[in-house]
Amino acid sequence: MAQISITFARGARRVTGSNFLVTVVDGARTTRILIDCGLTQGEQFCDPTNGETFTYDPTEIGAVFFTHAHADHIGLFPKLVKEGFKGRAYATAPTRDLMPVMLEDSVSLMRSEATRCGTDVPYVMDDVVHALKMLTDIPYGETVTVGDARVTLLNAGHILGSALVQIDAGGKRVVFTGDLGRVPSILAPDRDVPEGVDVLVTESVYGNRTHASVSDSEQELAAAVQRSYQEQGTLLIPAFSLERTQIILAALDRMMTEGTLPKVPVYMDSPLAAKVTDIYRAYPAFLRPEVRERLERGDDPFSFPTLRVTVNTESSHLIDVAPSPKIVIAGAGMSHGGRIRHHEQKYLPLKNTTLLLVGYQVAGSLGRRLKDGRKEVAIDGVKVKVRARVAAIGGFSAHADRDDIVGFVEAVKPRRVFVVLGETEAATFLAQRISGFLGLPTDVPQEGETYEL
Ligand SMILES: [Zn+2]
Repeated sequence: MAQISITFARGARRVTGSNFLVTVVDGARTTRILIDCGLTQGEQFCDPTNGETFTYDPTEIGAVFFTHAHADHIGLFPKLVKEGFKGRAYATAPTRDLMPVMLEDSVSLMRSEATRCGTDVPYVMDDVVHALKMLTDIPYGETVTVGDARVTLLNAGHILGSALVQIDAGGKRVVFTGDLGRVPSILAPDRDVPEGVDVLVTESVYGNRTHASVSDSEQELAAAVQRSYQEQGTLLIPAFSLERTQIILAALDRMMTEGTLPKVPVYMDSPLAAKVTDIYRAYPAFLRPEVRERLERGDDPFSFPTLRVTVNTESSHLIDVAPSPKIVIAGAGMSHGGRIRHHEQKYLPLKNTTLLLVGYQVAGSLGRRLKDGRKEVAIDGVKVKVRARVAAIGGFSAHADRDDIVGFVEAVKPRRVFVVLGETEAATFLAQRISGFLGLPTDVPQEGETYEL
């Protein structure tokens, strides 16, 4: 019988940098499969960890399976290819389409960060082009054979095209959640529950917290819009271009159509989010039935009359001279790069600004410092006084929360659990819940550790 092991190369005891290696040894033959190859993201894209050599030999990897197209799951793939990976890479069709857009954005963010930090970039656009040629799309439920392993993608319910990776090898079934969607989800269809699982490797971003409901969060969003409207101020929403922006657009669309919100001009200042939203429109079958139906009858759920999409830098600067009240949605979601920083420089010193954080803010990021209540921050070398109101809405998350993950583990009924992709506190809290409530052996691995299964 073949022997199977998991190496937690990165993405253990941290939220980002998803990168796990499954090794199957059958006599003289060894099969190596990677699950994700993501960027580590903190305050800077040029986080030195992204430049480090991989702890495994890229030339020996047979295949890579991507759980979804967020940069912390795909962003080091071009480096893997640059350093000799010659196998195949697999993802769902939406993920395959999102990857060029997301990787191109990573390249430009890394380039500007590297100039600032005086470091080397891990890869350039040519590497991205080369890497994308190795990508094949597979539907949910179809099995791919790689050496002595059989691999199947299932719906993870997190973002458009997100997948659970199920690996059958050595008589065992191992499932990686990637990022696990919540139930009910917001835009993606509800996640699958894999069966007959021996080992589950679960994320834990919100492993020690629970989310507010989506409807409560919509009320909070509405209240922030109303307040900005009354104060004739600016509502700044830093948002991840992939999924969170579409969730916010869909919520604004619904409330403006219902007439529960004033018709405030909304600027989506993100060419990346615009491209991503187009990919959402191209894959109605990968969205919740009610969203799919709207798209299919030509009623765009991501657009409304007061929405303006700015794609070039000039029109981005024109937002500043547009009269308030106004809403500005821009990336990056944790303010570690992108156009939001320019708007933050201008609007954070103003009392009638509300900065609304709608996503996870990783430790060390500008977004996290603002969330923690700093009264002065440095943005691109400029000291900025924070007089704006800073508010956070947790309920738009596309991740399962603590109780939801425990419920998922209970439904999957694995024999053993590993908790990854969360800060140490969240991961250990979740692991205690899983072992305490469900009586399952649960580990919180350290980066670099290998476990024989
Ligand atoms: Zn994600």
